[in-house]
Amino acid sequence: MKIANSLWFDPTMIYIGGQWRKPGHADTIPVENPSTGEVIGEIGQGSAADVDAAVVAAEAAMEGEWGRTPAVERGRLLARMAQMVLSRAEELAYLESTDVGKPMKQAQADAVNLARYLEFYGGAADKVHGTTIPYQEGFTVYTLREPHGVTGHIIPWNYPMQILGRSIGAALAMGNACVLKPAEDASLSSLAFAAIAAEAGLPAGALNVVTGYGAEVGAALSTHPDVHHVSFTGSVATGRHIQEAAAKNVVPVTLELGGKSPHIVFDDVDLDAALPTLVGACMQAAGQTCSAASRVLVQRGIYEEVRRRMAEVYGGLVVGPAPDNCDLGPLVSKKQKDIVSKFIELGKQDLTVAAEGKIRDDAPAGGNYVAPVLFADVSPDHRLAQEEIFGPVQVMIPFEDEADAIRIANGTEYGLVAGVWTRDGGRQMRMARKLNVGQVFINNYGAGGGVELPFGGVGKSGHGREKGFEALYGFSRLKTVTAQHG
Ligand code: ADP
Repeated sequence: MKIANSLWFDPTMIYIGGQWRKPGHADTIPVENPSTGEVIGEIGQGSAADVDAAVVAAEAAMEGEWGRTPAVERGRLLARMAQMVLSRAEELAYLESTDVGKPMKQAQADAVNLARYLEFYGGAADKVHGTTIPYQEGFTVYTLREPHGVTGHIIPWNYPMQILGRSIGAALAMGNACVLKPAEDASLSSLAFAAIAAEAGLPAGALNVVTGYGAEVGAALSTHPDVHHVSFTGSVATGRHIQEAAAKNVVPVTLELGGKSPHIVFDDVDLDAALPTLVGACMQAAGQTCSAASRVLVQRGIYEEVRRRMAEVYGGLVVGPAPDNCDLGPLVSKKQKDIVSKFIELGKQDLTVAAEGKIRDDAPAGGNYVAPVLFADVSPDHRLAQEEIFGPVQVMIPFEDEADAIRIANGTEYGLVAGVWTRDGGRQMRMARKLNVGQVFINNYGAGGGVELPFGGVGKSGHGREKGFEALYGFSRLKTVTAQHG
């Protein structure tokens, strides 16, 4: 099945200055369906020169119609795009599901979330104000919130629609002109979105999309001297390159780099309520979620019970083709399947397997399927308890008391999200303060979700905040005006 037949845009073209054009390289990048391994299409391979052209187009947009578009109208444009995304949610979900292997229901949720980001930031576009500041007699002082100018957005393959929504939505709301570089494994929804933005009437150059490889297109975008802010979601290794480039250009950068996030389960937990989330917050997107709860810290007194009950849930988990809406779909690529499989092999050498899920017998042999694995009694310093796996693997670690839980939870290089499961209100508050993370969930856990909730990490999980109102401050800069008038 070739996907190109069902598209409303040509995926071999890139989008610059309101025009679809051929990318700099004649060679295309194949699009594989992770559920079958089949090549189902191709996308264009952009070049560094395409990035230059996109930045020039974005600068022109800032100087032209887009730069003059009032905040209320930017909000309306985002709202219109949101409506169009909703009306095409099924098609977008199908595209994403086929491109990255997400079960359809998860891809549908991603499409709705893309619309939610556009609604949220559309509604906020005209509500971010400067302030007046009491100063000396004879002065009026005020601040202006202004766009950075040209913003670069480098996004990964795990939640393309959601991440482009949160990043592009907030940046456009504040009046920036964006250059978007989607991941080479998952570019279709970004191109589809560019076509939607054009149809919604977004002025030329406000959004430009250049597909291609990270080493050329991503590097050209993050090192470009005329890009005034870079937002990146992806691996720590690439994040370092982005930050180095931003340092050379002295521009701000937002980095969201993943994590090794814990569920912390105390012995007074309502286990019936917690159980689906204890497993689901890692299995969503087959564990390929920055905020996946991949460590499960359980207080000693209920450790065996939680282990037994989680194992029961694992026993029922089914992995299969994305259209069939199994609990888990395939991983995005053969490369990712190899990375995750190596971690599982490593774990099986010296850890106890508490449970495994199943790959459906009729799943196509060429698909990137990995059965989920729960490891028990894992030492907090084991590689599987320290390194981000980005696959359907959880480790269980027992702990004694609050102090022990905090020590273990804070004992990795990462600090993105933590879940605390306890009915004790005082403990909830103490834990929330002591955890070195960007988000704490108490008696719930929102892997990947929460349009309204500021999101980002500490440590190797990165810095800066996306999502929520907070992102609007990151995607704008403050100017202080001091007027002396006597
Ligand atoms: P992964 O290895 O899981 O694909 P990456 O962090 O490499 O994770 O990818 C996230 C995004 O960063 C993708 O869009 C990718 O193309 C891009 N990218 C990869 N290498 C670079 C680089 N050197 N500079 C800028 N962007 C890059």
